[in-house]
Order: sequence, then C-alpha cells, then structure tokens
Amino acid sequence: MFGVKATSKIPFPRTFEEFLEWFSTEEDCTEYLEWIRWPDGFVCPGCRGMKAWRTDRGLRHCQACQRQSSATAGTVFEDSRKPLRLWFHVMWLMMAQKTGLSARNLCDTYGFGSYQTAWGWLQKLRSVMIRAGREHLTGRVEVDEAFVGGQKEGTRGRGAEGKTAVLVAVEGDPKKKLGRVRFRCVEAITRESVELFIMDYVEPGTLVVTDGLSVYDHLKAAGYDHQAHVITTGGEQARQELDHVHLVISLLKRWLGGTHQGAVTPAHLQAYLDEFAFRFNRRLSHHRGKLFYRLMQQAVTVRPPTVKALYASKPQPVGVA
Ligand SMILES: [Zn+2]
Repeated sequence: MFGVKATSKIPFPRTFEEFLEWFSTEEDCTEYLEWIRWPDGFVCPGCRGMKAWRTDRGLRHCQACQRQSSATAGTVFEDSRKPLRLWFHVMWLMMAQKTGLSARNLCDTYGFGSYQTAWGWLQKLRSVMIRAGREHLTGRVEVDEAFVGGQKEGTRGRGAEGKTAVLVAVEGDPKKKLGRVRFRCVEAITRESVELFIMDYVEPGTLVVTDGLSVYDHLKAAGYDHQAHVITTGGEQARQELDHVHLVISLLKRWLGGTHQGAVTPAHLQAYLDEFAFRFNRRLSHHRGKLFYRLMQQAVTVRPPTVKALYASKPQPVGVA
C-alpha cells in the first residue's frame, strides 16, 4: 500500500528504485493521486461528505449522495486511455533528468507511437507548471531581453528575423548564487510590455538592474529602484552587473538548441520557458523526487487546457502597444 510509504515528511520517492517500488500497480498510482488531491481524506465534490467506498473501476462512491468521483477528473490524466503508471514514469523522467525530456526522446527511446502523442503529453505537463499568484521576486533583480529561436541562430541585433522576444528576470546579488527566474514571451520589447512583466513578477521597491535601453526608463516612476548600465565594448563593469541574467539566457538557448534541437515553434515557446523555469527554480532540491512531487501536485490541482487548445495555442500577446 502506497499510503504507508508517503508521509508528509517525505511525500515522494527519493530514488528511481523507490519510485519503482512505490508505483508498481495502477492502484498504487491512484492512491497517490487521491492522497495528493485529498490530503485530509476523501471529500465528495457533490455534498462534501467524507464517507465513500472504492468501486471496481477505482472510483470513490459517496455513501451520502451516491455520486462517483475519480481522482483524475479535471486533471492532466483525465480521459487518458493510457495507464497512470506510464504517466508517472514519463513525469519521473521529465523531472529526474537535468535537461528534461523531448518528444523525440520519448519516441526513440521509449517507443511512443507517434511524435504528436509524445509531444501532447509533454505539453500537457508543461501547461500545469506555472502556478497562478506566485511570489514576486525580491532583493536585487536583473532584467534583460532575449531573442530566441528562428533559423539564423547567432544573428545579432534586436528583433532579429524569425525570433521571439522574451523578457527574463533573475534574482540574486552579483557574484552570489542565482535566485529564481521568470520568463515571458512578448510580441515586442516596449515600455508597456516591460512594465507589465516587471509589475507581475517583481515586488515594488525592489532594485531592478537593466541595460541602458530606453524601454526601462520609466521604472523609477513605476515604483522600482532602477539601475541602468549602458553596455559598451570593453565595458566589463556594466557587463558584470548583468551576469546572472546573461547566464540564464545562454543556458536557456543551449537547452532549446540541445534537448529540443531548436524544434520549438514561437506559438509554444512560453510552455517551454515555463518548464525551464520550473526546473531551474528547483535546481537546488536535494532529491529530484521532490520535483516529481511538485509536478504531481500541480497535475492534480491545475486544470490543463483541452487538447484542442493545446495544439492551437498562440503566443500570448502581452503588452502589445
Ligand atoms: Zn456526496
């Protein structure tokens, strides 16, 4: 019984061996989902009753109102005809590997029938990686713009052909460890898109460090302590002030070009940025299993987009002038 293994102290398997032990049957997986969904015991969504028995199909049958509930309803796993064990396994692989998992990877190494199916699974998981109302970044935050994707990798200049504009914020004091990161795809780097991004993700009054671009000019007026560094050739000092954000941008580009071989389209880039941030912000976790656990929590609490919406998703036009 899985319920015995998970405790609030260590609610996740710490190693792959433990993972295999915890989730050897469909029932183990269902129990884990139920435990995450109803940590204080089952509650009927119809009548709030707490007495229920389990049916042959793994549903909870409420004694009071006879309603049947499934732990997977409204979650990433709803309507999937594949075993939960397979989902759990993919989630483990996606979280345990520092570089994540690509759809190509799932097809070639794990025998997923079609690239589309594999991509759909990963995209569904990515779609729940961002929580609403996350804490704001504080302390000292570096903000910069990056241009990602497109055919001509390495092309210099702002707004280069075929690339997507991404705003990046990174916490941390110079020469110290990096803190948390936030990303947002935008239609264009404008005062408005910059301000919306910073207001959504950075605590007012925080020291915001940027380059000398004029779109950042109004940050003081918006209530931030703003430091602009004009980056010139040989301007080492100014460059160091933005070391953290430049490092994150280069890691991001390496990941998109390496693990995903540059296959990410602009319409879906935000989901990949969310995945990168999810892993990056938890990179110091002692156990990779903790990331698996966090993802599982979000998979049962955040309602994923429909399959149709998943494939049709367009870049969110944030802050279009
Ligand atoms: Zn009920």
